[in-house]
Amino acid sequence: MARVYNFSAGPAVLPESVLKKAADEMLEYRDSGMSVMEMSHRSALYMDIMNETEELLVKLMNIPPDYQVLFLQGGASLQFTMIPMNIMTANKTFDIIHTGAWTEKAIKEGGKLGTANVLASSEDRMYTYIPSFKNLKFNPDADYLHICYNNTIYGTKYTALPDPGNTPIVADMSSCILSEEYDVSKYGIIFAGAQKNIGPAGVTIVIIKKELMKRADKNLPSMLNFNVHAENRSLFNTPPTYAIYMSKLVFEWLKNFGGVKEIEKINRYKASLLYDLIDNSKLYKGNVDREFRSLMNVTFSTGSKDLDTLFVREAEKNSLTNLAGHKTAGGMRASIYNAMPVEGVQHLLDFMKKFEADNS
Ligand code: PMP
Repeated sequence: MARVYNFSAGPAVLPESVLKKAADEMLEYRDSGMSVMEMSHRSALYMDIMNETEELLVKLMNIPPDYQVLFLQGGASLQFTMIPMNIMTANKTFDIIHTGAWTEKAIKEGGKLGTANVLASSEDRMYTYIPSFKNLKFNPDADYLHICYNNTIYGTKYTALPDPGNTPIVADMSSCILSEEYDVSKYGIIFAGAQKNIGPAGVTIVIIKKELMKRADKNLPSMLNFNVHAENRSLFNTPPTYAIYMSKLVFEWLKNFGGVKEIEKINRYKASLLYDLIDNSKLYKGNVDREFRSLMNVTFSTGSKDLDTLFVREAEKNSLTNLAGHKTAGGMRASIYNAMPVEGVQHLLDFMKKFEADNS
């Protein structure tokens, strides 16, 4: 069996040791005589898995006690609806910084429930930067400020947080959670689909300041009410049990690695290897303004569509897969999440050098 280096934007590479552990425990978890997949979500053994998963995440992210962790379904996409539903007040308005497809969806869905006030946008240059905070005119009535911390498609990332005063910040961290240290206390809500830095698709993590949960109308549909999920410790209905168990294994792996602080160092190193090569190359051009380059999604191109296509095809032959950019961005995208080993990036560098030599 030969595994490839998988640069997919998500679902994405998982640590090999985690997959092996899951394989070892596939037929029988501990002494239960069954797979986690076959286990009742109400059983003591499964409750332990849920509790341990939450505890690990709390420790890894240093989540303060006044925050609630929820394991939900519906993907990060459902949060574009669920968040406005739960935390919009009578003001029914939110501020948003528009940085690409994922904030566009938040504007569209949130806009069905209230008013989306776009403070700034990087659309003019195909979302290749994060707009300056200097001229942001925060709406004093905004119920929250929505940002997408790392744009998976275009490969941008925030380097600092805007300061909207008392307005809580809601951050979509789907493609950067656990990749670098974040001060959770600066956010009202952090949410992320699991399928990039956490585990398999199927579970969505929501970390919410408890105080904000009081805003929700009691008559919200139960499945869409944060309070209902919190009161039931994310067991209001059958949770995605296996995806949560896999997340636990990934959290254990990250803890053993030395936690977020240590993985951040490696992530910065991996990204710098690629950006340095791009900056010193005559063939490759990075898509994003240097200051805002993502640590997780490295976007670049050769400037020629045909050559980009050839790059992706040749890379595939060298066991380097899923390097095509998103269809709206074109070019290439190397997603180098936590689980992408340094060797994978080094293989990609070797290939990029050879490809440049062969095609210039
Ligand atoms: N936000 C970001 C930043 C994403 O990258 C994605 C998925 N790639 C989503 C939201 C949507 O996530 P999901 O598919 O889990 O709904």
